[in-house]
Amino acid sequence: MRPVADRIVVVLSGGSRGLGMAIASRCLNEGYIVATYSRSASPFVKKQMELDPDRKNFFWSEVDATDLQGVKRFVTEVSERYGEIGALVNNAGIGVEGIFASMRLSDIDLCVDVNLKGTLSLTWFCSRFMIQRRGGCIINISSIAGIRGQSGVVVYSATKAGLDGMTRSLARELGPRGIRVNSVAPGYFESEMVNGLNEAAKARITRRTPLGRLATVDDIAAVVLFMISPSASFITGQTIVVDGGLTC
Ligand code: NAP
Repeated sequence: MRPVADRIVVVLSGGSRGLGMAIASRCLNEGYIVATYSRSASPFVKKQMELDPDRKNFFWSEVDATDLQGVKRFVTEVSERYGEIGALVNNAGIGVEGIFASMRLSDIDLCVDVNLKGTLSLTWFCSRFMIQRRGGCIINISSIAGIRGQSGVVVYSATKAGLDGMTRSLARELGPRGIRVNSVAPGYFESEMVNGLNEAAKARITRRTPLGRLATVDDIAAVVLFMISPSASFITGQTIVVDGGLTC
């Protein structure tokens, strides 16, 4: 194993399950150090912490993305422990569904707080370390909901389109500092977030998808790993859609 100083530290929000867990697993397999948080420890998190009691490869903390002080403490601890932050993957997000005019204002606030404000604050803290280091890479997990209109997901779509806007402008600010910023916009994949979709809805999405199936978390995680890697060193400010052609 390479010494810590030679290894890239990937900060990942929401690495406990779903897509975040798949990204964390792939990063660990490829020799990255993973520092992640979520509100609760999943079986995956508990297993990684048992396998790595000294936190050489995997660090997890209980943080709510809406708690600014908690996010700040997390980033400070990661930077003190590992000395740098090489990549940031903004993955934590929640889906809030409902016809807009009948939604509770508190649900609108929560979705904006987690998906948009939570991402902006984590990025603010991490980008300061990347600027000092004069390099790094930021990936925002947005969604095809931020690109195509769909009834019932107005607020979620607004937050995801917001992330894509942030990607483009931040890429312009940070490009001269050697930092790349991109979005990965998945179509539907199986996770707790889409548990609400019934079989008929899944069949409809499959029918409309040229590649004929829903994505797996690994389809998306593979693209995230590519975007972190030096192979993507000339890509910035882009939204990479990974949806089997659903929106083409
Ligand atoms: P998921 O299975 O629900 O996992 C979400 C992760 O984020 C969990 O680790 C969760 O842990 C964490 N999280 C949620 N709220 C949090 C908060 N307030 N503070 C800290 N951590 C929080 O979701 P997923 O389906 O893998 O989605 C991952 C990303 O992909 C999201 O940004 C989502 O919008 C996007 N996406 C999903 C789909 C899809 O079809 N599933 C499609 C397009 C885009 P805790 O609950 O323990 O906090």
